[in-house]
Amino acid sequence: MKRENIILYTATFLMLFSCAQNPFTGKKTLALVPNSQILPMAFQEYDAFLSDNNVVTGTAEANMVKSVGQKIATASERWLNANGYQGYLENYRWEYNLVKDDQVNAWCMPGGKIVVYTGILPITQSETGLAVVMGHEVAHALANHGQQRMSASQLQQVGAVATAVGTQAAGVDEETAGYFNMAYGVGSQVGVMLPFSRSHETEADKIGLNIMAIAGYNPDEAAELWKRMKANSGGGAPPEILSTHPSNDTRINNLTQLAASAKAEARKFGVTSFK
Ligand SMILES: [Zn+2]
Repeated sequence: MKRENIILYTATFLMLFSCAQNPFTGKKTLALVPNSQILPMAFQEYDAFLSDNNVVTGTAEANMVKSVGQKIATASERWLNANGYQGYLENYRWEYNLVKDDQVNAWCMPGGKIVVYTGILPITQSETGLAVVMGHEVAHALANHGQQRMSASQLQQVGAVATAVGTQAAGVDEETAGYFNMAYGVGSQVGVMLPFSRSHETEADKIGLNIMAIAGYNPDEAAELWKRMKANSGGGAPPEILSTHPSNDTRINNLTQLAASAKAEARKFGVTSFK
């Protein structure tokens, strides 16, 4: 067999056995590294991040991050269970932490590991504004967008290390941790973050709106949040989150239009009033 053919067959084999279905869109997505391998590494990187950064505990704001996070997690689970995806969150280990840092940013690693930076709170302004951001970031994690931001070769490298992490708690080398953090949004450690594609942004906006509405938050506030984000980007340094989540009028218009369907989705779960 020719070498090119072997490569082609190997690639085809990998594709066949590494596609995961996105429960929110029904689309097949490429998942060269399964969550069973990614999650142990995510948990390790998350713990390392927390120990290297200033975690805020016991304040009203820190408590708000935890309570909004719990509501978003519960809403995610209700939505998935109602749509035939029982067990989808089985290996999730939800965690919600506020980190003292002036960056306007927030992210969610695979497995439900969330960080909100204090710098974003003046823009989220309220519990509902925070739910917009957390719902959106959780949506990227639920739809496995992070791993699709990485190249196949990076994924394979991470996969090999993740397997080692999972089986013998081996350390993660700096380069692999860098790829991982670039893909999953933990930018401050490596100074670079890969942006999500526009289609991933649109998908996360839609999923995030449904989740926040099911959690009892008013989805009309999503467009308002991104308007504030956009206003905040004028002059001075743009918010960190905008380097990975570019905001524009199309997005704001889409969110405005999708809010009604998110409320309709929430009504299916008995949620009829929104704060
Ligand atoms: Zn996003």
